[in-house]
Amino acid sequence: MKTVRACKTCHVLTESDICPNCSLPTSKRWRGYVIIHDPDSSQIAQKMNITKPGKYALKVM
Ligand SMILES: [Zn+2]
Repeated sequence: MKTVRACKTCHVLTESDICPNCSLPTSKRWRGYVIIHDPDSSQIAQKMNITKPGKYALKVM
């Protein structure tokens, strides 16, 4: 099973070493996540600067 990693910048969850959104290295140390369906109407998404639907880590170390 692959490790789920999180981008340090946009917090998206991915199995890749490199973030598919911003092409930056991801971290395997993260805590909690939120699922964003509609970024435009989600306060959490706006707070975290999320513009695309998906799974995002709450905290990335
Ligand atoms: Zn990213």
